Amino acid sequence: MIARVQPLTTTRRLAGPFDYALPVAPVDVGSIVRIPFGRQALDGVVVGLAETTEVPDGSLVTPSAVREDSLPVELVELALWMADEYCSTPARALSLVLPPRGRPRAQLWASRTDAPLDGERLTARQRALLDGLPRAAGAELAALRRLEARGLAAIAPRARRRAPLTVPRADELVTLTDEQETALAAVERGGAWLLHGVTGSGKTEVYLRAAAAALERGEGVIMLVPEIALTPQTVGRFQARFGDTVALLHSALGEGERYDEWRRLRTGTARIAIGPRSAVFAPLQQLGLVVIDEEHDSSYKHEGDPRYDARHVAAWRVGAAGGGIGARPSIAGSVADAGTEDGPSRTVPAGGAWEIVAGARRPADRVELCGRAEGSLPPVRRRLLCGSATPRPETWHALSRLTLSERVGSRSLPPVRVLDMRGARHPLHPDTRRALGEARKAILLLNRRGWSNFLTCRSCGKVWECPQCDVALVLHRAEHAVACHHCGHRERVPERCDACGSPAVARYGAGTERLEAELAEALDVPVFRLDADTAGVKDAVPELLARFATAPAGLLVGTQMVAKGHDFPDVTLGVVVDADATLRFPDFRAEERTFALIAQLAGRAGRGPRGGQVLVQTTAPGAPAIAAAAAHDTRGFVADELERRRALDYPPFADLIRIVCSAPAAGTPRAAAGEIAGAVTGAAGATVLGPAPLFRLRGRHRSQVVVKAHERAAAVDAVRVAVDRAARQREYRDVAFSVDVDPQ
Ligand code: ADP
Ligand code: ZN
Ligand code: ZN
Repeated sequence: MIARVQPLTTTRRLAGPFDYALPVAPVDVGSIVRIPFGRQALDGVVVGLAETTEVPDGSLVTPSAVREDSLPVELVELALWMADEYCSTPARALSLVLPPRGRPRAQLWASRTDAPLDGERLTARQRALLDGLPRAAGAELAALRRLEARGLAAIAPRARRRAPLTVPRADELVTLTDEQETALAAVERGGAWLLHGVTGSGKTEVYLRAAAAALERGEGVIMLVPEIALTPQTVGRFQARFGDTVALLHSALGEGERYDEWRRLRTGTARIAIGPRSAVFAPLQQLGLVVIDEEHDSSYKHEGDPRYDARHVAAWRVGAAGGGIGARPSIAGSVADAGTEDGPSRTVPAGGAWEIVAGARRPADRVELCGRAEGSLPPVRRRLLCGSATPRPETWHALSRLTLSERVGSRSLPPVRVLDMRGARHPLHPDTRRALGEARKAILLLNRRGWSNFLTCRSCGKVWECPQCDVALVLHRAEHAVACHHCGHRERVPERCDACGSPAVARYGAGTERLEAELAEALDVPVFRLDADTAGVKDAVPELLARFATAPAGLLVGTQMVAKGHDFPDVTLGVVVDADATLRFPDFRAEERTFALIAQLAGRAGRGPRGGQVLVQTTAPGAPAIAAAAAHDTRGFVADELERRRALDYPPFADLIRIVCSAPAAGTPRAAAGEIAGAVTGAAGATVLGPAPLFRLRGRHRSQVVVKAHERAAAVDAVRVAVDRAARQREYRDVAFSVDVDPQ
């Protein structure tokens, strides 16, 4: 037998896998091995086993070591699929799904043997010790060793869990509402579902019940949340209900904790994985359910290579990708005939577009499974449940929808008032100021960090810009610095203009830092600021949120982070200070984002008995996204938005692929982009937009091409070929290429 090993290198040029002889230690698909590779040693993943090789006899090398932890076969397949799907490489995709580094921490564990105690002469202390078993030996090791010598106790090493610190909440046992019952029953039938319901409508309760049902069937669950720090309630509720079978996976865990949590899932000790997007790679044994909370959240998209989208990967894991979320639901029924748990070839209308059978849509040809083909496993009908108050139009279009139409306890959503800021002098509308004076607790959202957006010289007009990027520097007053929000460049605040010497340097616009200062001065309540600048330190976010939660009065000011998942019953006022900030963004998702931001903020306000209101300041009061959000009209907004997208041929009616070429020199990115555009135009019926210039970033000039495709796989292939060809050309030696399938 031969092991086919994919070396984990970052270069794009090496196209594995390569053949190796089997080492003494057992290996299988998913084993992680150390391999001699040229003159170096690399880690590699076994992606297949084969009977024969083309490597001549005698020159086959053997891996030098096999790691104790291995990947489940499914994750190997998943990585190979991602490499294709996102125009990346197998090595880069595999490195995303690897087990964390580490080893179990052992402790000595003492337990009773079968030996009877009758007739044994024991002191009171010894008897108490024996009665207390099993337990960690700890400080009693010597005493326990004496009992072990008499055959009364057994002592052996045992893995000791390093558990992440969390705050479990008291579990509430509730009777489901009719709508919750209906939703749960639908999910139980299998397939992929959208659960649409405003914050507080009881979605989490449906997730919890669906998870309980999966556990009961012996299946594992993945629960994806946007960000652990901003969603401690969800984690706490899962732990309160399911205890230690919940494993937490996220990057802020210590190395040992992360290793232990991964291992508990891999061995089946834990069967629910909770975490942000990377938790979609949880090594669960028998995955039965993936829940994606706040499915509209942009954090589900990974910005490294491969640029995967956890929502799309989740759809693959439940067997629904291929079309995936965001694709046209044209595969209706196509999987249905592959057989269900009720027997082969019975079409069951469940989950609308998708009837899911594990393994049915896997690209299994990529992996030689050596007699362990996944088709031979008992078919599991997997489920996907995406929840949101503001679903993406893609999801709305692709999935069958379940609705929770009102908040639990029928507390209504707060009224939203749009305040026209055209011609306004002061950053806060008079009505906003009045409302702030009356509310004891309020949340203000301003999607712009720092003090002011840009500095300019009143005498000569110089604008302070980043030397590396073509963008204005933002003033951060507390740090006496101006900073670039794209590359992190910082310099001291200028006291005078370095071009003309004038001391008259003007500051324009307002960010969260300035808003915080002005509010603190104007109002007699504590002001808490939450944005990327204050969230940097570990535990800063939960501490800040806790202080705001317990304060009798206060204002929470910040970027979109303030609109996420929090539950503060005593907040009666929400203010969007500049709704145009997201609306003006040059992107076809600008409307969708603006709508979501306002609706999410409305979900934070008026959760308690005193009700509340939301004020939206804008210079575009008539914008459809703002008007729809003010009317709490998700259905209407999404319907209009889908019509607009259909007319413009945007997702979900086409797939987008974005290629960015960048280089230190100005001319080559544009030329390389032009060549790629030419090569892809017409391929697989794709339309090509660009090349279009992007602003210079980190000293690199950039040019982008956007491909609109109706045959996704063929278009991705055409892009891959075009990019590979351009990358090999001498004149583009200095050009870096980045491919983003489904850009956000
Ligand atoms: P969402 O996830 O949509 O924000 P939750 O599931 O958190 O909503 O529910 C909001 C609150 O209502 C929670 O405190 C929850 O315990 C409670 N709740 C949920 N379902 C019910 C129910 N059927 N009966 C009573 N209370 C419920
Ligand atoms: Zn000047
Ligand atoms: Zn910069």
